[in-house]
Amino acid sequence: MNDCIFCKIIKGEIPSTKIYEDDEFLAFDDIRPVAPVHILVIPKKHIPSLMHMEAEDIGMAGRLLHKAKELAWDNCGKKGARFVVNAGRHGGQTVDHLHIHVLGGRALIWPPG
Ligand code: AMP
Ligand code: ZN
Repeated sequence: MNDCIFCKIIKGEIPSTKIYEDDEFLAFDDIRPVAPVHILVIPKKHIPSLMHMEAEDIGMAGRLLHKAKELAWDNCGKKGARFVVNAGRHGGQTVDHLHIHVLGGRALIWPPG
């Protein structure tokens, strides 16, 4: 049994606002946006977090970053964007399926909490 929320979104069992989809990745709007643009980009392969990535995932990880930057150019514009990967409880991860947050549309402060 896989009760992962993001796997259910991939399977269409939970609705999402899709921004992009191909065989390997899905991107959709975060349900609780913290910036005017807040997109989640996820691999369709269930990997619990960046800290669970294996060597066989290195190619996918590069393509994931590349897709995230394309979505940032298309949705956040030339003023820039922030790419966030939370991992584990101390990292603030709440959904245990690898994802990149693409944030933009306003100037973001640093450091985060
Ligand atoms: P993280 O805290 O880094 O694990 O990020 C998980 C993100 O998933 C949070 O920003 C949530 O708002 C978002 N989220 C949780 N459930 C959904 C959902 N059903 N659709 C879209 N985004 C979601
Ligand atoms: Zn999953």
